[in-house]
Amino acid sequence: MCGIVGYIGKDDGTEICLKGLKRLEYRGYDSAGMAVVDNQEIKSIKVKGRVAALEEKQKNNPLKGSLVIAHTRWATHGVPSEENAHPHFDCHKQFAIVHNGIIENYASLKRWLEEKGHKFTSQTDTEVIPHLIEDYYEGDLVATVQKVLSLVEGTYGLAIISAKEPDKMVAARCGSPLILGICDNGDYIVASDPTAVVEYTRKVVYLNDREVVVLNHGSYQIFTLDNKEVERETSEIAWDLAQIEKGGFPHFMLKEIFNQPDTVSNAMRGRIILSENRVKLGGLIDYLDSLAKSERIVFVACGTSWHAGLIAEYLFENLASLPTEVEYASEFRYKGSIVNTDTPYFVISQSGETADTLESLRKVKSAGGKVFGIVNVVGSTIARETDAGIYLHAGPEIGVASTKAFTSQVTVLSLLALYLAKARGKMSDEDMQARLNSVLALPKIIEKILKNADSIKNIAERYIKYNNFLYLGRGYNFPVALEGALKLKEISYIHAEGYPAAEMKHGPIALIDQNMPVVVVATDTEDIIYQKVMSNIEEVRARGGNIIAIATEGNEDIKNFATEVIYVPKTAGFISPIVNVIPLQLLSYYMAAARGCDIDKPRNLAKSVTVE
Ligand code: GLU
Repeated sequence: MCGIVGYIGKDDGTEICLKGLKRLEYRGYDSAGMAVVDNQEIKSIKVKGRVAALEEKQKNNPLKGSLVIAHTRWATHGVPSEENAHPHFDCHKQFAIVHNGIIENYASLKRWLEEKGHKFTSQTDTEVIPHLIEDYYEGDLVATVQKVLSLVEGTYGLAIISAKEPDKMVAARCGSPLILGICDNGDYIVASDPTAVVEYTRKVVYLNDREVVVLNHGSYQIFTLDNKEVERETSEIAWDLAQIEKGGFPHFMLKEIFNQPDTVSNAMRGRIILSENRVKLGGLIDYLDSLAKSERIVFVACGTSWHAGLIAEYLFENLASLPTEVEYASEFRYKGSIVNTDTPYFVISQSGETADTLESLRKVKSAGGKVFGIVNVVGSTIARETDAGIYLHAGPEIGVASTKAFTSQVTVLSLLALYLAKARGKMSDEDMQARLNSVLALPKIIEKILKNADSIKNIAERYIKYNNFLYLGRGYNFPVALEGALKLKEISYIHAEGYPAAEMKHGPIALIDQNMPVVVVATDTEDIIYQKVMSNIEEVRARGGNIIAIATEGNEDIKNFATEVIYVPKTAGFISPIVNVIPLQLLSYYMAAARGCDIDKPRNLAKSVTVE
């Protein structure tokens, strides 16, 4: 997590860096800092708290410089405080560094450095790096950084400046993202992701792991840690500034919820050939035959993406009769998972930088397996390291709580399931036609739910005093219950649990009373599952619980059982998660808003989990 921005150019770069930090603030926001080289001296400011506080400090006593590094932190080692805020320095403030990631062997390095007399001023893992640089420095910053980075274990995206070489910035990455923005006027901006750069240039270079980029005024070179020069093509950022601004909405999260008719539409654009009754997935074209012949598929993901993977398990098994498993990336990495080279693995990650997912990908690849990606951010590390994949084309997702990426993930996974169902001979043409039409109807259905947002807001406001919620769903909508509960926890800090509805009686039912509202996804009235869910609703009612039901339009009967009903248009069961999750996103958004929570920057969280 955390955001890094660095500038080297002709003018004062402090404003560019502060603006960049604001755009990166969704990656971390517990403290912030900035350093410049000014007159052969490193000057810095730091604050505990938000980038806005750093801006205030900058106004009162401005730093100026054409060589600048800046950071917004998501603490891993050491409390959020001014001392632990980046940049960090060596004993004589000759070197300054901003870092994203974790130096895993910092404790032994720190002991060694302290024995040699180095004085540390923070509790961070990061601070070992400037002290190591100080210790090894013999007049060549690049060589020293290469040496030091070969000693550290763990992950880093970092930028370093030095008073000893005031015309140079050195940046490097291993496991944490870092890009270089190349401006037309010869200025360079390094950043954790393109949002900090796009206002100034769309021309970028993506660094690979264990690469160091050296930026001078007007030129740059990329080297490996063992000093081999690397040639790298530049890439174009495919989106523009408007996509990373709020566009009149009070929060990014609400904007992204309301974007979903478009983003779901983008996820299916060009991928449904209705006249030929088929799905076309260009990104996987070379692998579709072997995917259809596989005997098992494994999805690996974290958080909301894991919920999308769980829906894929239902989709692939129900529609394509293809045995499917879904793994938490953080568990998959370390348990003795046996990588079967005949099994295709799919990793799902909005950012394409999720650390555990990336390492799972590498685990499969190093065992000789094939890995495919379901990723939003074009050019991200996961997108580059997978064999092939499907992009979401959802545009940048800034809200920390994922919304539009989730519905896009499920949309492309539904299309993949349909493709495989047809290729494996498990679906009639007629069935295929009907299902493709129901996927195409999704944007209009989502629009209709969004028009009803005010009534969901009213319900949300009636429930803000409750501190515990249970979310229930079955079949395709069990993962939706998990996702609804996760949204509520993330942004409103209300405890919520998602459960398969019938599992409730194996434990959570003990918690039910009038203080525990139960949100039940009870759509699909023609489905056998609906009757079962109704029985689960009765079980809650019998114990005095309040029910908030998500039900299909026209189902008047449910009003006799539920305290509140949120209606959604009728849709086919296999894509109902994409529809049913929308009111749950809105419910959590409006509850968090009514409780006065900081929705785009929920406490303790950050977007794009690039540390383990
Ligand atoms: N491990 C470093 C720290 O705790 C960097 C964390 C980050 O990525 O923000 O300061």
